[in-house]
Amino acid sequence: MSPTHVLVLNSGSSSVKYQLLDMRDSSRLATGLVERIGEQTSRIKHTAAATGDTREQNGPIADHQAALKAVAEELARDGLGLDSPELAAIGHRVVHGGMFFSEPTVIDDAVLTEIERLIPVAPLHNPANLTGIRTAMALRPDLPQVAVFDTAFHTTMPEQAARYAIDTKIADRHRIRRYGFHGTSHAYVSRETARLLGRAPEDVNVIVLHLGNGASASAVRGGRCVDTSMGLTPLEGLVMGTRSGDLDPAVIFHLERVGGMSMDEIDTLLNKRSGLFGLCGDNDMREIQRRIDEGDAQARLAFDIYIHRLKKYIGAYYAVLRVDAIAFTAGVGENAAPVREAAVAGLEGLGLAVDGDLNAVRGDGPRLISPAGARVAVAVVPTDEELEIATQTYALVGKGS
Ligand code: ADP
Repeated sequence: MSPTHVLVLNSGSSSVKYQLLDMRDSSRLATGLVERIGEQTSRIKHTAAATGDTREQNGPIADHQAALKAVAEELARDGLGLDSPELAAIGHRVVHGGMFFSEPTVIDDAVLTEIERLIPVAPLHNPANLTGIRTAMALRPDLPQVAVFDTAFHTTMPEQAARYAIDTKIADRHRIRRYGFHGTSHAYVSRETARLLGRAPEDVNVIVLHLGNGASASAVRGGRCVDTSMGLTPLEGLVMGTRSGDLDPAVIFHLERVGGMSMDEIDTLLNKRSGLFGLCGDNDMREIQRRIDEGDAQARLAFDIYIHRLKKYIGAYYAVLRVDAIAFTAGVGENAAPVREAAVAGLEGLGLAVDGDLNAVRGDGPRLISPAGARVAVAVVPTDEELEIATQTYALVGKGS
């Protein structure tokens, strides 16, 4: 029988998240996380799905090579090691695929070179993704390894949505354009929304609101992305946990010329100390809601700014699409009923409404929260990026290998 297991690896700068799936029924066999790689206080946390047992080990893990070895050992303890004949492939999340990669791609030297060439536009993410890939390839050189790109789903964006209005020659020389991110999630959620509505993805237009710590919106027409809120980097668009999202680019000149800040300081300010955190000192929506309930004006204003931006993107995508559905996903979108309610409040003219009771229900699966008979469906659709990466990987290499 052909092997049916796919290992999904998401390698960050100091962490590796992993899931082992059996693609016969898309079930999880194991999940885990290695954190604080390179520090004294590293930790690996592993859960074996068969038993639900969680094992945790603390102690220094020097680098990604050591981290992946630790992952392999944990999997081996459950009889699911990297040498298992059941393992069909490893699927790697890669953040930036530029314009080059519009599909999941089997990794070879040319692919590695191209991912490396994209480091200048993804300095925080692509180096870590590459390290993870190289380490996994060294451990299992014979096994198909597939890169699934966060940008791929957005490569269908038309030029008028993808280009910035700057000198074309300069933009092309430096590969400056809007790439978009969270594409694996937008692809999965837009398809699942169509399924929830009982329709084919080709027949449905969806606005997907991926609201996690990072946040992005996309306009998906008939299963193809036609616009998204993130740009050259994940900094553009919505107000996020710690990122500013849209702002006048002149703010940067001003901070440098008048504020005396260096470019690196401004980079850190806008990516790590802005958004909800910059506005009120908290980036966790649960904490912000708790503070609002206690009458905290700063938390209230941060929430209002977050919602105002979200509404502007919903409105903008009505100009791009004939909208059938709006789908909320990721940590905030799936869990924060007040965010969903506020995001569509006052937009009845666009056919948008949520039913208070349906919105208040907590659940795991995809569900409608708009009133019966509403012109536009409003839905909560949990994302599953690991499943999507595994599915794309298996579709490419799994069958018959
Ligand atoms: P990322 O993958 O971008 O790190 P997630 O999609 O996991 O983020 O979302 C994390 C965020 O989701 C948290 O920072 C928090 O703001 C929000 N969140 C998680 N659970 C809840 C909840 N029950 N209510 C409100 N917000 C929540």
